[in-house]
Amino acid sequence: MNLLPFGKLPAYKPRTFVPQTIDLGDWPQIAPLFDQLEKRATQCRSTAELERWLLDWSELSAALDEESSRRYIAMTCHTDNAEAEKAYLYFVENVEPKLKPRQFEIETIYVTHPLRAELLKIGAPASGTACFADDNVNEPCRRPALRPRYQVFDRDVKNHVELFRPENITLETEEAKLCQQYQKLSGSLTVNFRGGEKTLVQMGRYLEEPDRALRQEAWEMVAKRRLQEVEKFDEIFDRLIELRERIGRNAGFKNYRDYAFRRLGRFDYTPADCARFNDAVAREVMPVVRELQADRRHQLGLDKLHPGHLRPWDLAVDPQNRPPLKPFGEVGEMVSRTQKIFNRLDGELAGGFRQMQDLHLLDLDNRKGKAPGGYQSTLCESRLPFIFMNAIGLQRDVETILHESGHAFHALATRDEDLHAYRNGPPIEFCEVASMSMELLGNEFIEEFYSAADASRARRVHLEGVVGVFPWIATVDEFQHWIYTHPGHSHAERAAAWLELMDRFGGDVDWSGYEAARAHLWHRQLHIFIHPFYYIEYGIAQLGALQVWANSKRDKVKALADYKKSPRSAVPGRYRNYFKPQAVNFNLMPQPSGH
Ligand SMILES: [Zn+2]
Repeated sequence: MNLLPFGKLPAYKPRTFVPQTIDLGDWPQIAPLFDQLEKRATQCRSTAELERWLLDWSELSAALDEESSRRYIAMTCHTDNAEAEKAYLYFVENVEPKLKPRQFEIETIYVTHPLRAELLKIGAPASGTACFADDNVNEPCRRPALRPRYQVFDRDVKNHVELFRPENITLETEEAKLCQQYQKLSGSLTVNFRGGEKTLVQMGRYLEEPDRALRQEAWEMVAKRRLQEVEKFDEIFDRLIELRERIGRNAGFKNYRDYAFRRLGRFDYTPADCARFNDAVAREVMPVVRELQADRRHQLGLDKLHPGHLRPWDLAVDPQNRPPLKPFGEVGEMVSRTQKIFNRLDGELAGGFRQMQDLHLLDLDNRKGKAPGGYQSTLCESRLPFIFMNAIGLQRDVETILHESGHAFHALATRDEDLHAYRNGPPIEFCEVASMSMELLGNEFIEEFYSAADASRARRVHLEGVVGVFPWIATVDEFQHWIYTHPGHSHAERAAAWLELMDRFGGDVDWSGYEAARAHLWHRQLHIFIHPFYYIEYGIAQLGALQVWANSKRDKVKALADYKKSPRSAVPGRYRNYFKPQAVNFNLMPQPSGH
């Protein structure tokens, strides 16, 4: 039974090293390929031969990566299917633990290879003074003309070799299994509301209803349902923290945070920079958030009531109490309207989105048994993107499909790059520029979904979301700094640390009577569980995306040309799945914000 929405996808470039018929879930078939790579490395006599060897290694990595992605996609599309779960866990438990030490050996061979220094000279500038051709000649040059072809790859491999500890392999397997448990638990939660079983994602719709009592009822029901699972979520997280602390210590770091910074390849900023970023959010963004909240309170007429505060269920409704924006009914309609936006934006991007539909590289509707959130995943051998989301007919879904399409366009733009490490995505700080920019650029044509009046309302909703996401990013980021620098903390201390951040970044919302829900709000945030420390990137990227948007206001054509060019020239990185962040404290959707 094929549990994937798409069928067989041919490799973008025919395999020349990995056999056509190999079963990439069966370790005895994979191991000999590593033997061959090890042996051949010693026989490389020229940089050309070493480059050829890198491409073969790349081909194997991409094929294995795609195998792992396929199993992940099947599992998240069917969290209630035992076969999908088994196939995913089999790979996690039986292939990855064997793969890691062999990858490490290959990486070590590379790092110690006698031709490595020669390889690093390829593409290096002849002198340090040359400029990019498109640099303004009147400005002093700040960028070198060329970066050595393998410089960033080399830096990442070296970093990986330095961090690798064989004793961490079993711990990482345990970690992956706990993450899968979190996905499964989150995806399984439903409530009975208004005569039917609803997923918590589907309940999000009621928070946009003008009827305040209905909103409260829906919100309370979801909060109560989640609170029933508090112990399970906390237990999963306790075990994750313990594993991560051990992983960090094994690698020689005094805490997991410092390890995670290195692991994520954060060569350009430090924990102190994150703290400064978050302070800036408190200083610059929070006044705007409070202003928007005060407007909302006034427009909703709450200031005439007693006590008249904004409540958690007042944050997603239209402040003028208009019915929710209804961008589309069926998911098919969302896809065809999104296609029209891209048709107007750019022919090449439009073609890419059409190709994804033709190949069924989309699973977009929300249903029970699907993991929460949305993501874009790249199938590394066919070099094609796949988009996963849980659309239910909200404005937020329009933002999400534009966002994930931005990631998909990025993946398509790098198809011709043969080095897997370089195709596998630039650093997340840049990847999210591709997606967040697409939200803003696509929004210029949002009339494809709405009347003129609703279109400006939708744009406002989106831009308020941009403002609101900064405090949420700061909250999630600061919280994780606290978690991993306070080993042995109790649940009460953890809740107190969280609540302090909610006070600092939550704005003027009255949670009285719902203190427990507030203290556990972070349980909804997928990243905290399964992608530790992956969050500040969104803040960095959002600033970049706003700049792309500002450029497009000055010169649409040039901004888009630059946008399309950027993935090809960006430096490479290290992640597979990209998510859209969403401020759960601001919009308060009952959904982990794993976009
Ligand atoms: Zn993203």
